[in-house]
Amino acid sequence: MDVDAGHGAALGRALPATPLARRLRSFLSFQGNDDDPVTTLTRTHRAVHPTADAAVLRRSYAVAENMHRGQFRKSGDPYITHPLAVAQICAELGMDTTTLVAALLHDTVEDTAYTLETLHGDFGPEVSHLVDGVTKFDKAFYGKAAEGETIRKMIVAAGKDVRVLVIKLADRLHNMRTLGARSPASRARIATATLDVLVPLCDRLGIQALKRDLDDVVLYHLEPDSYARIDEHVKNRPGWHEYLADVTAKARTALRRSRVDAEVTPRPRHYYSIWKDTVAGGHAVPFDLPRIAVVVDGPETDCYAALGAIHGQWRPVAGRFKDFIATPKNNLYRSLHTTVTGPEGRLVEVLIRTVSMHQCAEYGVATGYRFPKSDMASPGQDQLTWLKRVLDWQEEATDASQFLASLRCDLSEAQITVFAKGRMVELPSGSTPVDLAYELHPDKGDQTLAATINGRLAPLSSELRDGDVVEIFSENEGQVPAAPGAQKGPRKEWLEFVKSTQAQMQIKRHFSEENAPGISIQDKVRLGRATIGLTLRKHDRGLASEVPLRRLAEELGYPDLETMLVAVTERNLEPDQVVEQLIALVDHPD
Ligand code: MN
Repeated sequence: MDVDAGHGAALGRALPATPLARRLRSFLSFQGNDDDPVTTLTRTHRAVHPTADAAVLRRSYAVAENMHRGQFRKSGDPYITHPLAVAQICAELGMDTTTLVAALLHDTVEDTAYTLETLHGDFGPEVSHLVDGVTKFDKAFYGKAAEGETIRKMIVAAGKDVRVLVIKLADRLHNMRTLGARSPASRARIATATLDVLVPLCDRLGIQALKRDLDDVVLYHLEPDSYARIDEHVKNRPGWHEYLADVTAKARTALRRSRVDAEVTPRPRHYYSIWKDTVAGGHAVPFDLPRIAVVVDGPETDCYAALGAIHGQWRPVAGRFKDFIATPKNNLYRSLHTTVTGPEGRLVEVLIRTVSMHQCAEYGVATGYRFPKSDMASPGQDQLTWLKRVLDWQEEATDASQFLASLRCDLSEAQITVFAKGRMVELPSGSTPVDLAYELHPDKGDQTLAATINGRLAPLSSELRDGDVVEIFSENEGQVPAAPGAQKGPRKEWLEFVKSTQAQMQIKRHFSEENAPGISIQDKVRLGRATIGLTLRKHDRGLASEVPLRRLAEELGYPDLETMLVAVTERNLEPDQVVEQLIALVDHPD
């Protein structure tokens, strides 16, 4: 995200270290001395996209400035400073001109007299889709559901164009930065909401460059004391830079000896990451190991050569090596992680990755916009598989709160990887074979009969663990092992143990279809009559006429026979009970 990081091959290695906050501040003060506020934005944008059209940026800024004129932020700044800052964040991410135009205009439709139709006419369908995607639903009209419906609308819009989410994240980042002017209660509320949905969304989209800044600003508002403590720690580390310079130099030598071409740079942790490790490890003082990044020039295999060189130089710490190249994280993050005993016996963390892995790790879905001529097939597209899955189930969520709850569950960080049908499948932790079945085949999960985990037959409610090898057996599928008590699914009890949104939605849909509205009253009457007929047969009885049935319906207080039969179908009336009374009525008429 460095402003000057826009020059060819050097890009991949421009490890962003400067906090965006500082750059944003210098940008805002710089703006004061300049007659044209769009200059800095254009410069940042052109550094990444040299041939970009600056005229359209000026034009959209002029419209936004004109529409927001007379409006002010809570801080007292003119409102236009906000969309301009949001566009600047998008520019630093390397987004394209269309994104910047939409970012400049993102609040016009919501907060000014500028309509979506005018916007569409002035700037075209892409910009108007992006702006519409981040425009909130009216609270006065939607009431409590407004927040959930707004997030749903944004997700649906992002399904068509993921730039909607990039603008939303940049918008939230700037709003969080300028929360200082709000009351402590509203700061905490906004920070919590950000942590709840937007930070995990950012993580799923793989935009680490943005997530680091969001993480830190959330920490600043929610844990001001911890933030201050870590700030103090980071600013007062005697010998820290000298030590890192020494490690970096020695690592370079080791790599050169092994003939691995690579850039080695210190890779400081962001505040939130230090805080998380400190809390997780129960440390009294901020826990922060020195860290370096090795970005190799060559192919993937060079990462392992580099790992060999590093481990040859310094002894690795057992249990700290992770291969996210062979097994990428669920946001497709790829890297080797190791911890070694470095100079002076101090522990040092090392990240090893290729140039393209590094680009993806930093920019995620934004990679394709930042590096349009990159040789990666369609970088960032794979990250959208997750988004497509959310789009699949969102239609099933009838109300906004249900949608939000499911989204949160889907976004939860804890995931396990299991192996099924020769592939790896990501599931929420605590998932069962039923979750897996619906994940593999949403339309065939209903037919699940049995499952084996690591070769042994296991109850469908078994909690799967990371690395399990699972086989699902369903109807119409060859050899089914005789599972005790196996019956045709789905069963209502499944709802008590399934974890994934996909499984919950499909099972609920199955049961709601079984009742209304697919089945008519006429069908229910017929079904009720058939049920009673079957139950009578169990008692070796039958009915010659409907007269006893009609009398019973009357006795039980139903307005007519049909209503009683519907009650039987809907199980409001037990067929056995009806039949008992019916037999009594026929056998012992008063
Ligand atoms: Mn905004």
